[in-house]
Amino acid sequence: MSKSVLVINCGSSSIKFALLLEEQNFRIHGLAENLGTENARIKGVTVGNEPVDIHIPFADHKKALEVGLERLANYKPDAIGHRVVHGGSLTKAELINDEIIEKIREATPLAPLHNPAHLIGIEATQRLFPDLPQVAVFDTAFHQTMPAHAYRYAVPKFLYTDFGVRRYGFHGTSHAYVSERGSELAGSFKQGGWLTAHLGNGSSTCAVWNGQSVDTSMGLTPLEGLVMGTRSGDVDPSLHSFLAANLGWDVYKIDRMLNKESGLLGLSDNLSNDMRTLIEASENGNEDATLAIEVFCYRLAKSLAALSCGLPRLDGLFFTGGIGENSAYIREKTMAYLPHFGFNLDKDANNVLKRGTEGRIDNGTGPQIWVVPTDEEGRIAKETQSVVEQEVENTTAKKSEPEATLA
Ligand code: ADP
Repeated sequence: MSKSVLVINCGSSSIKFALLLEEQNFRIHGLAENLGTENARIKGVTVGNEPVDIHIPFADHKKALEVGLERLANYKPDAIGHRVVHGGSLTKAELINDEIIEKIREATPLAPLHNPAHLIGIEATQRLFPDLPQVAVFDTAFHQTMPAHAYRYAVPKFLYTDFGVRRYGFHGTSHAYVSERGSELAGSFKQGGWLTAHLGNGSSTCAVWNGQSVDTSMGLTPLEGLVMGTRSGDVDPSLHSFLAANLGWDVYKIDRMLNKESGLLGLSDNLSNDMRTLIEASENGNEDATLAIEVFCYRLAKSLAALSCGLPRLDGLFFTGGIGENSAYIREKTMAYLPHFGFNLDKDANNVLKRGTEGRIDNGTGPQIWVVPTDEEGRIAKETQSVVEQEVENTTAKKSEPEATLA
């Protein structure tokens, strides 16, 4: 049984890491950023509340992990869980071996920014901890239960069969945790039909029936679906040919614009991708900010209404993520677009819930509405533990099998 799990979320120039200690029931967090540059640093590793800010010029991922983990010398992990954005067709968390590494590599064309960074992180931790079991937990895995009518695009079939062009969905770790925890709070653990709205810098919705994802708003990539901080979400696919024909833009420029310059940032005319800033600007009369917020809430409500088609019955909705957990204003505005579903928000209950607090915010007359703080790290640690335990069981079972005898 793994008592402490090191959770690694490796980006191209950053690493978020957290050591979760089961017995003591506490976590130690660290962030390494600007890796490979003069400004590389490690921040926020706290043992006994001691803040840390270490300058590690030109450190790579391995060096950053080494330095960060030196601070935790008394807390050696028993297992390591890696967040991996794209698992292709993999349906669950997997013990990392050569075959799984190859599968993560094969899914790189589907997540070109993320998967190569995860592989760097895996290689670094394998060199640092050659004897520890390491597990990959995929953002896409939870959505592998979607039926074909939810995951296929209406494009020529060979694009799916030969090139894997389909909807995969992301934020799976969060949707899985929040729907499980939320249904538990509602007294129907992993039962019934629920919608989840994960609203942060990236945002997505999910429909969950009896604990399984049946549809989600993100698709082949994390660009599809809702309006996000800098991502456009859904646009008319012909926007690409319009921009090419009229502005002479190539696909890379269009892709950058849709991923980095759109969403709340684009709608607010470059004011901000941050919802807090936009709410403040809107209160001060900024019309672009007001519109950006309205588009965000309307499109979110539309997505929730659409995803409800995947559910035989609608029991309720869970809000999560930085915006979903903190902004009573955004929750109220979104619910105002969904009165025909019978949702009835309790405004007082809604107004008191802040980050880290879970609670019910409807008045009890229609489908339930809850705020459920997400815990992706905790979920990754739990999945890592269960994969490792399963592996131990399998090995023990194999050892106790009687030796085959020749007849
Ligand atoms: P990430 O997706 O990077 O993990 P978070 O889940 O932390 O990000 O969400 C970040 C978003 O949450 C930002 O847009 C931020 O403005 C928003 N947010 C945080 N607190 C509030 C708040 N009190 N009101 C409105 N938005 C908030």
